[in-house]
Amino acid sequence: MRLKYFIPAVAVFVSASASFAADHKETPVVEPEAALKKLQAGNARYAGKSVSAGKSTAKARAATAQGQHPFAIIVGCADSRTSPEIIFDQNLGDLFVIRTAGNLVDDYALGSIEYAVEHLGARLVVVLGHERCGAVKAAVAGGSAPGHVGAIVKDIRPAVTAVNKSPGDVLVNSINENIYRVADKICKKASLGDKASSVRVVRAVYDLDSGKVEWLK
Ligand SMILES: [Zn+2]
Repeated sequence: MRLKYFIPAVAVFVSASASFAADHKETPVVEPEAALKKLQAGNARYAGKSVSAGKSTAKARAATAQGQHPFAIIVGCADSRTSPEIIFDQNLGDLFVIRTAGNLVDDYALGSIEYAVEHLGARLVVVLGHERCGAVKAAVAGGSAPGHVGAIVKDIRPAVTAVNKSPGDVLVNSINENIYRVADKICKKASLGDKASSVRVVRAVYDLDSGKVEWLK
């Protein structure tokens, strides 16, 4: 079954966003298990072609204009085919989404996660990779990539090296390994203070063909 990642309570909590905190003092918290169920149900609707019809973005915009309480944090790939709000059948204000090619996390992403946990009430972090990820493909292909793409490839390459001799498809294995490593990095590096023990980090991979999200063990 799904592994439960508990982020160690480490590091000094940085209160640089104290001015934002004032807006969210009474933030309702959505527990990770409830958040996960909502995502699973939403993905089942999407993949099953029963995605919510006539979803009111105008209503959601009005409801969230003065404050946001997203129930989950998604760390996904920037790939245009993997938009979390769509594949989980959610609306404005539901998901706090961080996307980079290869679903990597840097200091900006970690800071964003910390902010969403501390001030917005989210307690579930989903690291969402996907089938046929171009960023991972580039890392598997080897060689050097131009410009800042090189930094992405470099950060994914250790995952490729780790599974290089494993049985099965090297791209599939690398995609999964990269997801595991990003989840581990979040567990080890995110500074969540007294919220750490209540946060759950889960790993998932999105199937571009079926639309289904598989929750990894
Ligand atoms: Zn990708």
